[in-house]
Amino acid sequence: MDEIVSASPATGLALGQVQVTNPDKARRIIADAREAAKIWARSDFKQRKRVLRRANDYIHEHFDDIAWLISDENGKPRVEAVTAEITPAMYAIKYYADNAQRILSPEPISMFLWGLAGKSSEIRYAPWGVIGIISPWNYPFGIPMTQIATAVAAGNAVVLKPSSSTALIGGKIGEIWNSIGLPEGLVSVIQGPGPLGEVLIEEKVDRLIFTGSVEIGRHVGKLAADKLIPTTLELGGKDPAIVLKDADLEAATSGILWGAMANAGQTCAGIERVYVESPIFDDFVELLVQKAERLKVGPDNDFDSDVGAITSKGQLKIIEDQVEDARARGARVLTGGRRLDMGEGSFFPPTILVNVNHSMPIVRDETFGPTLPVMPFDSVEEAISKANDSEFGLSASVWTQDQDRAREIAQQLVAGTVTINDSLYTYGLTETPWGGVKHSGIGKTHGKEGLLEMVRQVHIASDRYYRIKKPWWYPYNRDLYDSMKRGLSFLTGAGAGSGNRSASLFRLLRGLSPRGKI
Ligand code: NAD
Repeated sequence: MDEIVSASPATGLALGQVQVTNPDKARRIIADAREAAKIWARSDFKQRKRVLRRANDYIHEHFDDIAWLISDENGKPRVEAVTAEITPAMYAIKYYADNAQRILSPEPISMFLWGLAGKSSEIRYAPWGVIGIISPWNYPFGIPMTQIATAVAAGNAVVLKPSSSTALIGGKIGEIWNSIGLPEGLVSVIQGPGPLGEVLIEEKVDRLIFTGSVEIGRHVGKLAADKLIPTTLELGGKDPAIVLKDADLEAATSGILWGAMANAGQTCAGIERVYVESPIFDDFVELLVQKAERLKVGPDNDFDSDVGAITSKGQLKIIEDQVEDARARGARVLTGGRRLDMGEGSFFPPTILVNVNHSMPIVRDETFGPTLPVMPFDSVEEAISKANDSEFGLSASVWTQDQDRAREIAQQLVAGTVTINDSLYTYGLTETPWGGVKHSGIGKTHGKEGLLEMVRQVHIASDRYYRIKKPWWYPYNRDLYDSMKRGLSFLTGAGAGSGNRSASLFRLLRGLSPRGKI
């Protein structure tokens, strides 16, 4: 394949084509990134801030073009292109421009006793070099842009492999970062089908950030492990919502509907199953169905779509198969349930299911579509146990008026993020860490934690009394052994009852005092 031809999933219309990067060229791009990384590693934070600000100015100047392109190629409504893609990207760029210096300043470590002995330690942060980023099609702009901003703010070069389903958006990302005065080759995009991403591993990038499915994440993780490349994996989810009987029904149904249907449900942290306390189950379901039926599904012609296209035909088939399987096993589909015939466009309506259980793929597996199975529960313990009965652990939500109770429940949910009375928006909170547990991934992006994954931590240990030979150097003798043994009781408090602590300190210091040295 020489070219990727891109077409709109909402209309089928051709949008453009992108040249595939052959593996040899990709290798040269990675080599160039290594050189550029050396230059950028010497940049100071003021320079990085200036450049990051220019990236936001560029996005601002080309705002409508970018929003239209995201909507056209990915199929989401333009409002979502702004709220869920451009907003997190611009916000992350600003956050890291303003905060990278503070977060990455050297950090002294206080050490009382070693300090007396003239030792001091600090952590300093150094860029890794080249960060390889492999990204998915569902948030093809927001995810890689955020990760690139973090990497660049930390002083790294980046080679991005975007999804081939959203190659034009990948190209636009390259254009943005290459228009703002960065060293040549600092941020590059390689384009092609999935396996091209393996070049990043073969060429041993210094760190890999992978966002995508569990299956490919596991494969990429194994290849990277073989080369001992540190890797962050942001993978799939099957996120639960727990609705307690005191929840505000009106707000909870609206919020959960949005959390499930935004991006036509093709969201890693989308709500994919709901547990509702039995006394309000029927009312909740009735209101949810009414609201689902009011959503407008279709292409975004004039800001007139709430639920956009399913980005690929393959994804449409997965959704359809899971709904059919659930129906065959006795689920009741209260609304939606079949693909819509809208010309070349791939659309699936909001679909609410009841009579569902944990043996069904629609409750267990990632669906990645506008489907929502709803189940009743009788006790909070039951709800927590069902919410945790999943191989995923990306995010979860709790809906109630009792904030303290919500926090208690949140703490028992096995997930990277738990939101109270809202969902999804936390991906856009640049200040807070993002990342799941179990099959949802390893490591963090966003926030201080995400920035720290883009740097090597160097512990620098120094010595004020550099003329003094150290007692733990050669030669070894009985005195050193005994004084260490006794002195450890001072250091650790172990056996403190059996003697006087200052006597122990004295013995320790005496034992460590200079002897004949080699
Ligand atoms: P995917 O795993 O199919 O592809 C992800 C990326 O990996 C793409 O760029 C693809 O081209 C590349 N790839 C495929 N084969 C490869 C290989 N052999 N070597 C290297 N790279 C390869 O995922 P997708 O379908 O694009 O995205 C949807 C998935 O991503 C869902 O499971 C979703 O939950 C997950 N996701 C997770 C997060 C998160 O933050 N946890 C965010 C968005 C999406």
